[in-house]
Amino acid sequence: MYGYEDVTGSLIQSYSICKRQVWLMAHQIIPDQEHPYIEMGRLIDDISYDRDRKKINFENVVIDLVRNDNGNLLVGEIKKSSKALDSARLQLLFYLYKLKQNGIEAKGQLFFPEERKKIDVFLTSELEAGVVSVINEIRDIINMDKAPAFKKIPYCKNCGYKEFCLS
Ligand code: SF4
Repeated sequence: MYGYEDVTGSLIQSYSICKRQVWLMAHQIIPDQEHPYIEMGRLIDDISYDRDRKKINFENVVIDLVRNDNGNLLVGEIKKSSKALDSARLQLLFYLYKLKQNGIEAKGQLFFPEERKKIDVFLTSELEAGVVSVINEIRDIINMDKAPAFKKIPYCKNCGYKEFCLS
């Protein structure tokens, strides 16, 4: 039985894209690591924002970047593209929520180095309620006996599970 603590930032990010992907990831089904999208993500991860980088890691949460922003804690997520902005925003809100649960107030910022773009993210009480409801829904999905049925969506062509789902 999966619980609240099994909900990770990666699952939160997948939730906005595909519920089947959420289940596959949670059940340790390994995506195709050579998929170009994943490779590109890794490369950007390696080369961007090296100067500021301080990964922090707690309770299944790995935060890309932490900065002191005029005395306030700023946590950042670095993304390849702003096309999946909603899912990136939700992931960062989840991190802000987890930090808050641990007594740490922070503001968030999404970084899109290829597009030279930054977007501020704040955890309002309304957004916090949304994060809690997504966590509960993810817990329900990953506790299902089988993955949600395959339904082709535009994202499939970029997904590491493409071979798995289409075979
Ligand atoms: S290939 Fe498509 S259906 Fe399968 S996990 Fe990826 S996005 Fe979801």
